[in-house]
Amino acid sequence: MIQITLPDGTIKSFKKDSTPMDVAKNISEGFARNVISAKFNDVTIESSTPLTKDGKLVLYTFNDADGKKAFWHSSAHVMAQAIQQLYPGVKLTIGPSIENGFYYDIDFGDNVVSEKDFPTIEKKFLELARGKHEFKMREVSKADALAKYKEEGNQYKVELIENLNDGEITFCDHSDFTDLCRGGHIPNTGIIKAVKVMSAAGAYWRGDEKNNQLTRIYGVSYPKQKMLTEYLELLEEAKKRDHRKLGKELELFAFSAKVGQGLPLWLPKGAALRERLENFLKKAQKKAGYEMVITPHIGQKELYETSGHYAKYGEDSFQPITTPKEGEEFLLKPMNCPHHCEIYNHKPYSYKELPKRFAEFGTVYRYEQSGELHGLTRVRGFTQDDAHIFCTPDQLDKEFKDVIDLVLYVFKSLSFDNFTAQVSLRDPENKEKYIGSDENWEKAENAIINATKEKGLDYVIEYGEAAFYGPKLDFMVKDALGRSWQLGTIQVDYNLPERFELSYKGADNQLHRPVMIHRAPFGSMERFIAVLLEHTAGKFPLWLTPEQVIILPISEKYQIYAEKVLNLLENSEIRALVDDRNEKTGRKIRDAELNKIPFMLIVGEQEEGEETVSVRKQGEGDIGTLKINDFISLINKEIDSTLEKF
Ligand SMILES: [Zn+2]
Ligand SMILES: [Zn+2]
Repeated sequence: MIQITLPDGTIKSFKKDSTPMDVAKNISEGFARNVISAKFNDVTIESSTPLTKDGKLVLYTFNDADGKKAFWHSSAHVMAQAIQQLYPGVKLTIGPSIENGFYYDIDFGDNVVSEKDFPTIEKKFLELARGKHEFKMREVSKADALAKYKEEGNQYKVELIENLNDGEITFCDHSDFTDLCRGGHIPNTGIIKAVKVMSAAGAYWRGDEKNNQLTRIYGVSYPKQKMLTEYLELLEEAKKRDHRKLGKELELFAFSAKVGQGLPLWLPKGAALRERLENFLKKAQKKAGYEMVITPHIGQKELYETSGHYAKYGEDSFQPITTPKEGEEFLLKPMNCPHHCEIYNHKPYSYKELPKRFAEFGTVYRYEQSGELHGLTRVRGFTQDDAHIFCTPDQLDKEFKDVIDLVLYVFKSLSFDNFTAQVSLRDPENKEKYIGSDENWEKAENAIINATKEKGLDYVIEYGEAAFYGPKLDFMVKDALGRSWQLGTIQVDYNLPERFELSYKGADNQLHRPVMIHRAPFGSMERFIAVLLEHTAGKFPLWLTPEQVIILPISEKYQIYAEKVLNLLENSEIRALVDDRNEKTGRKIRDAELNKIPFMLIVGEQEEGEETVSVRKQGEGDIGTLKINDFISLINKEIDSTLEKF
């Protein structure tokens, strides 16, 4: 008998050579029907692999990331089989699962595959899948493995096998198809009920442009047709919400080849939006006892050598800027922290003056390869809503809680209601990997866990995920399409205070090291605004949106009255504009709807006579005629309701 430990801690006895599927059936037949793959003692195995010793077993369904991986990897085999049948003589290379689906890199020889061929591949795929062929692993000697692919003239697989050791080479068979593979499959092909070939793109063998160009065929598959349909709908919606598209339509930001790749240019509306976000946070930070500081965009190379950032960002990033005569070396700032440490260092502190909380919307520059750049989410220059808190170890607990309050306030005010927190702690078995005393680590880890619990956050603890300099708390936010984004982060740091020799005088009159907290609720302004755009589809909360009201005179005759309404709104600090184009009212309404302006005020003869406005709400239509002052109180009430008090 062998002892199998399940994830919930239960230990069950099974006959030797029982399979993960046997264990699943023992739990329940219904559950077993959904189990598609397994991990034994942290190694991925097939659900049919006999278990020969005691160990920890995890069973996966399609709902688990590991289950999806097996499902999609298995689908890559079936797609390769389908393509091989449709295009005899193609040479297969590698076919892994990816975040959403899988791909296979194939040398098509003289064949050309394009979008019009995708339906044929899908049809063949499903025909093969319906055969319910089992995936079976078998060991094969290096000589036999090489012989198979040499005979096929597949130099790619030969190259792969040549780099493997005899005795650790396995093939996977299903129906009449065989592929070189390390394993991790679903039980049989019949589980795959829906497939979509997504795209075909060029890819060099082993990613090296000196090598042959292959065709990378991307696909995605599901255990239910409905799931595929939903996924494709989600992609459609994501395309509509793409922040690069919305940013252009709403005139928020632009890029210029002349200025340089990955360097966003904020247009007037985008700059105003960003300023409102900054002011919103500044106001809350002021109440929370932060002080604003300003530091330069460059710093001496030595500063970053002291901080350790040069080791991390130096050689692989923007190279030093040198002065023509003195031979000084400066770096574009990759982080604000070293500057803030030197701000702390400008004078001695007593414990009574702590904590010090220095905040800055600090722009930093980090080199990214041009191929990695993406809209506002991957850029080469970005502004962090950064702050560093310098406190005594005893103050850490309260400071941490206060930072969480601030982060939650930010999320709530921007309608991110769905988020989880990840607490990253030390690997308890490898304590020597981290700097700082055990006592301080315990204090910091307890501070984070207590604060997270006390604030009622939905959290997971990850051991071994802490930075070497301290534990941290990251916020993963789910957007309206269910995609996860990492936004705010709070990190405890024992390293920089040490490197910069920061100190304060304690009650004992001795010098002590302060603890440092790095925090950024938005993360970066660029990334945050990108996520916010995709989350809201450009329909920002009323307090934030660029134009809150548009006034639509039904003809030139009412232009003066429209200006009067505009004045009254502006006096009440409502952001408004007049659409004075010589267009039909219907057209003006449509354009305002498209520009996502929350309120439209239509003014004509009757409105002018009665000093009223006819109010339309974006997406909702006509809500009636109101006296101007009544409209102002209505909108103010609504602005207040979308922005909580901190
Ligand atoms: Zn495989
Ligand atoms: Zn920092």
